[in-house]
Amino acid sequence: MGILSSKNAVVTGSTSGIGLAIARAFAAEGANITLNGLSTPEEMEAERRAIETEFGVKCRFSDANMMNGEEVTAMVVEAEQAFGSVDVLVNNAGIQHVSPIESFPDDKWEAIIRINLMAAFYSIKAALPGMKERGWGRIINTSSAHALVASPFKSAYVAAKHGMTGLTKTVALEAATFGVTVNAIAPGYVWTPLVERQIPDTMKARNMTEEQVKHDVLLAAQPTKEFVTVEEVAGVAVFLCSDAAKQMTGTTLSVDGGWTAQ
Ligand code: NAD
Repeated sequence: MGILSSKNAVVTGSTSGIGLAIARAFAAEGANITLNGLSTPEEMEAERRAIETEFGVKCRFSDANMMNGEEVTAMVVEAEQAFGSVDVLVNNAGIQHVSPIESFPDDKWEAIIRINLMAAFYSIKAALPGMKERGWGRIINTSSAHALVASPFKSAYVAAKHGMTGLTKTVALEAATFGVTVNAIAPGYVWTPLVERQIPDTMKARNMTEEQVKHDVLLAAQPTKEFVTVEEVAGVAVFLCSDAAKQMTGTTLSVDGGWTAQ
């Protein structure tokens, strides 16, 4: 029996990349899953059904837009109605935009703060009361090495992820006596569509070739010189749900190939 059997999990931003890997790893541990992201139910139907048949759990999809607080709240309420509870909440949805601050588009700055930070406020606000009532809960925020250190041209992302550290600590304190832990995972560079998409902008901002961006910018910061895999991040999320992690709360766990040790 998996460590999450009879538990229900919501993973935001789980149509691809890290979120999808976390959702699949939770399903492998027996959790029913609410997937979320910017896809249509039709586009997600094959993945949804694959999770149900592969792992013998229930899986649903919410297309709630993390830009909009009301949709975030409704996503959590609907997940509770569908499965009876939200025991594990992963705030993972995120976007990036790379630009010098002088020319950083206002709408991109605001969208990054809304999706990467404010959505977690709304989802936690909606899910925490039920977790406290039942005396068990796991809130996991997908943060970033950029929660601990900065890089040029990523002002909105770095601000949102540093904000995530503060939100994680604060809610951990508020939930500490209720059997609810709140932690963040801070990956370095993970090879996902999000990283792939920022290569052209970084090439432009730094006047570099694709290979130079990969080796001199992305992996320059990562002493192992390897991208983190989505499965490695998902493994840490599963660990945070285990009994061994019961006393871990309010932390930001680095999974960054040594980046922030420097
Ligand atoms: P990804 O692009 O593969 O996935 C992003 C997910 O967020 C997708 O499911 C997408 O649909 C969803 N999303 C985006 N905007 C949304 C919105 N408005 N409403 C609902 N869902 C929305 O990227 P990823 O690399 O897997 O990123 C996942 C998280 O990991 C992000 O928070 C990101 O900041 C963080 N992270 C990624 C890396 C990396 O190197 N890839 C490193 C550190 C942290």
